[in-house]
Amino acid sequence: MDIGPPLPLCIGGEWRLGGGERYETFYPATGEAVACLHAASLADVEEAIERAHQAFHRGDWSRAKPHARAAVLYRVAALIRERAESLAQRQRLDNGKPIGETRALVASAAATFQYFAAACETLEEAITPSRGDYLTLSVHEPMGVVAAITPWNSPIASEAQKLAPALAAGCAVIVKPAEITPLLALELAALCEEAGVPKGMISVLPGKGSVIGDAIARHPKVRRVAFTGGTRAGRQIAHIAAEKMMPVSLELGGKSPTMVFSDADIAHAVNGVLYGIFSSSGESCIAGSRLFVARDIYEAFMDRLVAGAQRLRVGDPADPATQMGPLITAAHRDGVERYVALGREEGGQILAGGGRPDLGAPFSNGFFHQPTIIAGLRNDQRTCQEEIFGPVLVAMPFDDEEDLVAQANDSVYALAAGIWTADFQRAWRVGRAVQAGTVWINTYKQFSVSTPFGGWRDSGLGREKGRLGLLQYMEQKGMYWGLNEAPLPWAGPCA
Ligand code: NAD
Repeated sequence: MDIGPPLPLCIGGEWRLGGGERYETFYPATGEAVACLHAASLADVEEAIERAHQAFHRGDWSRAKPHARAAVLYRVAALIRERAESLAQRQRLDNGKPIGETRALVASAAATFQYFAAACETLEEAITPSRGDYLTLSVHEPMGVVAAITPWNSPIASEAQKLAPALAAGCAVIVKPAEITPLLALELAALCEEAGVPKGMISVLPGKGSVIGDAIARHPKVRRVAFTGGTRAGRQIAHIAAEKMMPVSLELGGKSPTMVFSDADIAHAVNGVLYGIFSSSGESCIAGSRLFVARDIYEAFMDRLVAGAQRLRVGDPADPATQMGPLITAAHRDGVERYVALGREEGGQILAGGGRPDLGAPFSNGFFHQPTIIAGLRNDQRTCQEEIFGPVLVAMPFDDEEDLVAQANDSVYALAAGIWTADFQRAWRVGRAVQAGTVWINTYKQFSVSTPFGGWRDSGLGREKGRLGLLQYMEQKGMYWGLNEAPLPWAGPCA
């Protein structure tokens, strides 16, 4: 693959090489280099934030009328759709997801810009009931410079989920994509500029999280951080936020339970469970990675599930028929393999997968792992409690609903849950009892930008998406507007 010259970064509206180290990014399916660039330096961070601050205070975006900002965001959505295929192919190379998934992520990024354009244009402020001879209002102001720190697993969709509402709110945005998957964030920033977002309102600064991400989060002029990533880094950002008294949203890890009851539509549930864990190679925060199946159907269900996992098409991400691509890096696959070994040590039996598939050239240097199912473990063991972030499902039988809910909730994570049952009363009961930011009933991993998304406990703080997703980038202000000349209590004596 011809990787061409180093790619410029977007630093305060200027496209130029980063001041940090030169590095290459790789296509996870083959290990080949895809692009090279120079990471952002600390001086780039300083300059980008200073320029973002100036661009914000210039007011040509932050004080533009909502319908004018919306018009530009609609254009961003249209441009994403116009270039959808090339963006999807670029993303396939950037992180190795199968083309079917990258097309869906690009489409979701366009839908996100369209939604927040509409939300921006139709946002209402309130006249609140007055308690005196004054008019009382609740209004919202953009926060200023905000940061969007994103992981490697869903480029473009993750960035759009933060960039679109932040721009809609009138903020200037410093995007810090994962160092290893910077390509789509750069393309998105270029599209935003082409659509009419003023220069300086967006910067894209790839680099090491502990250096560049940390410096962005700590900068006094950054007034909010929207973070998606692991719980460890999320906690560090929360500490910084506490020191700076800064709002944050933290979309973190998960170990989501999927529960299959005896009365479920079994064929549907088998497909749903497979899709829930093995799509995106399990590199998904909401992966349904802990499976609980009613004991009376456990064996029959597991037979079908294992057969289904073994039939999954693992391989070439460019082939639209491929269901599972590679993992992101060799190091990440090593981590997944360590968890499979741990599962064995803890007494688990590998019912499917457990190793690397033999795909042959040109994928022999790719970072593939088989879809893997481990049974025979208890929910309190490490393999069932820790996030693996790979194609590994742990499966356990359950006996009664109350105990099931207790086990489902027995996790530091609480991001998502799946319920498969034909009994709508049970679906309601369990759906309300399970602690999770998102519950899917007889479906899994479906997303709508109009529905809030986020986690409880170690899975995060705050919500993205939905109309409230826009308000997260705005400060609320109460206004009192005196309507008569009546003296205030002290007006007489002080005058
Ligand atoms: P990560 O936490 O290592 O990195 C995420 C981003 O944060 C990257 O851009 C990274 O460079 C940056 N970063 C890392 N340390 C930082 C620090 N100390 N200060 C500032 N920035 C820092 O996560 P990852 O390995 O890229 O992604 C995988 C994790 O993301 C998984 O745990 C997964 O569950 C989680 N995730 C969560 C969601 C969600 O919406 N809840 C979505 C996708 C991924």
